Amino acid sequence: MRQALEQVKGALLGASQGLQRAGAAAEAGILEAQALMLEDPAVLEAAFALLGQGVPADRAVAQSLEPFAEMLRASDDPVFRARAADVDDVAAQVARALHGVDEVPAAPDQPSILVADDLAPSQTARLDRDRVVGFATEQGSATAHTAILARALGLPAVVGISGVLQAVSEGQLVLLDGDQGTLLLDPSSDAIVEVAPPLGLAADPEPAVTRDGRRLEIACNAAGVDDARRAAAAGADGIGLLRSEFLFMDRDTLPSEMEQVTMLDQVVAALGGRPVILRTLDVGADKPLPALPQPSEANPALGVRGLRLHLMRRPDLLRAQLSAAVRVAARRPLRVMFPMVSTVDEVRQAKAMLEEVQRSIGVPEQARIEVGIMIEVPAAAVAADLLAPEVDFFSLGTNDLAQYLFAADRTNPELAQLADSLQPALLRLIGQVVNAAHRRRRWVGVCGEMASDPWALPILLGLGLDELSVHPPAVARIKARVRGLDAAVCSRVARAALKLESATAVRRLLERRGLSPG
Ligand code: PEP
Ligand code: MG
Repeated sequence: MRQALEQVKGALLGASQGLQRAGAAAEAGILEAQALMLEDPAVLEAAFALLGQGVPADRAVAQSLEPFAEMLRASDDPVFRARAADVDDVAAQVARALHGVDEVPAAPDQPSILVADDLAPSQTARLDRDRVVGFATEQGSATAHTAILARALGLPAVVGISGVLQAVSEGQLVLLDGDQGTLLLDPSSDAIVEVAPPLGLAADPEPAVTRDGRRLEIACNAAGVDDARRAAAAGADGIGLLRSEFLFMDRDTLPSEMEQVTMLDQVVAALGGRPVILRTLDVGADKPLPALPQPSEANPALGVRGLRLHLMRRPDLLRAQLSAAVRVAARRPLRVMFPMVSTVDEVRQAKAMLEEVQRSIGVPEQARIEVGIMIEVPAAAVAADLLAPEVDFFSLGTNDLAQYLFAADRTNPELAQLADSLQPALLRLIGQVVNAAHRRRRWVGVCGEMASDPWALPILLGLGLDELSVHPPAVARIKARVRGLDAAVCSRVARAALKLESATAVRRLLERRGLSPG
């Protein structure tokens, strides 16, 4: 039994780290919490005691976890009730490990939609995403972690379709629309032609231009070379956010400058001439780096993270990263961007270091690398007019901006409503940042999850954003949608949205104006 417990715990922690690397911190936390259940002294004591009394190992584990599940099932809150499934899932995983049963559904031969009675979060996290392009299940709810995970992974999914297993047969043609929550059986060829581009089935390298001639750059977020290749294959206009910390995540030591040059070269080469924005290491808060252990903090999200960590503790690391970037930028279109900026002074310090690096490498004045900052701390958003003259561009990190604006931990699923992209307070702040940047002729993008939110698109266009950096599967869908929009209409709707009092009211406005997705 001990071996099975260790095996499941190891698998959960491994999958959790994979999600962490993919930027899905909240979802990684779900699997980590499941792993912790198997370390709980009360659970282990009860399980081994039952085993000693002759209870079979799988039942012993399930029974000792039951008090957890009971407590959750008794809650008034549907979110907590849905969490009981996570506990049952842990017990089921241990049972499968004890019986030596393969727990991840076998990958189909060709890209397919998986239809199942239910999928556990751990199974969802480990699906072969090159072959499983979406899934539909009989069980589950939108607030259960399987659905949350599917969203985080950009995997179209519809859960809780009663009778789906009986209705669909192996090899049948189906159309799954995760946004609308529908599964169409035997769709007509007209239906397929209509939905193929929005579902991201086709690559789309053409520019996204609105009906009235406004261009919106659609770039991708990337965590490494594979993502960069996926972005290029999807037809992205570039990489709007290269989360460089993920390049360093699975190592015990930090890469040398030359290793960094090689990594960056590979990423930029994958884009074949389209620009890449390297974000300097954003370590800390929910993204600790094993190779760079830091003292623990009471409030890590408010602690020494991102650019602060470099300026306060490790300028040597920033210098090495900037040197690598400058060397690659001499040959290829690479820009740099600093995360977690709160003051003008921080930007000046970072730029001074960049200038020193460029001088020492001998880069001529006119070939200087383009520099941007993330706008993800409310203080930076409020002072955008002072920051704009310092840089070439801004990118709004709406994940953190919403977290800090609403004082709502982004890893806490209970507070997800406060992180709704359509919250008018967030929209107002974004509008102010765009205006401040445009007054100085600086371009502004969004690289938080909001950029991939189909509801937010008309508003972001209307607020004047120049670039959106999205998930690779969303590129074709978003480009197609931009081409159907009118920027002047979106601008009027965005102005009206800023006067509304809730995200729900903004959603209703979009529906009334025929701008809801789908
Ligand atoms: C953000 O905060 O919106 C962002 C894009 O950065 P990260 O998610 O890596 O913190
Ligand atoms: Mg951030």
